[in-house]
Amino acid sequence: MTATYPDRLSELKARLQAATQEPWAYEPSADGTEVYGLQIGGSCLAFDEDFPLGDIHLIANAPDDLRWAVQEIDYLRLYMRVLGDFAFTLDALRCALENPAAGHVERRRRAFEAAREELLAMPNWRPGECHSGCRSYATHELVTEVDGSVEREPVCEECGAMWLTARRSAIEAGCQPAARLRLEALTKSSRETKEMDR
Ligand SMILES: [Zn+2]
Repeated sequence: MTATYPDRLSELKARLQAATQEPWAYEPSADGTEVYGLQIGGSCLAFDEDFPLGDIHLIANAPDDLRWAVQEIDYLRLYMRVLGDFAFTLDALRCALENPAAGHVERRRRAFEAAREELLAMPNWRPGECHSGCRSYATHELVTEVDGSVEREPVCEECGAMWLTARRSAIEAGCQPAARLRLEALTKSSRETKEMDR
């Protein structure tokens, strides 16, 4: 059966797929103060001299920006479905506990546990992003050394500083095993290497 309303996200993905792959290169004026055109594959999109720079940047960045936004929408829709399943099975379990019938509670509990595991298994970051789930790019690594083993977690500077303080407090309070912690800035080249490894 065909959809009776257009699926805009599918249409957007199809348009992205059909467009010329980046990089799209700026063609600057001789003195570098203006943009004359945009090189897209073997063709050039020319701008007249009073074409606003803000519009040029919007056009030039559109493929990458849209791809990012499409991934975010896909992720959020998936997260909503998993969260919805969790809420539904939790409510079904509550109902079963209030009105117990033979085998009913156990079946509902199994469904709830499966939904809970799926929710806990959902990653809340994408490649290159901070592992706290704030959706910023990772610029640092939180380095944890315990008994000769080293764990490195990609984080943004703000979340990294927050985690560092929180974990040091937890170690001091005896809630977590002793470890040496530090925040290291990722250099541009190490970030690119990590991107390529993925
Ligand atoms: Zn962060």
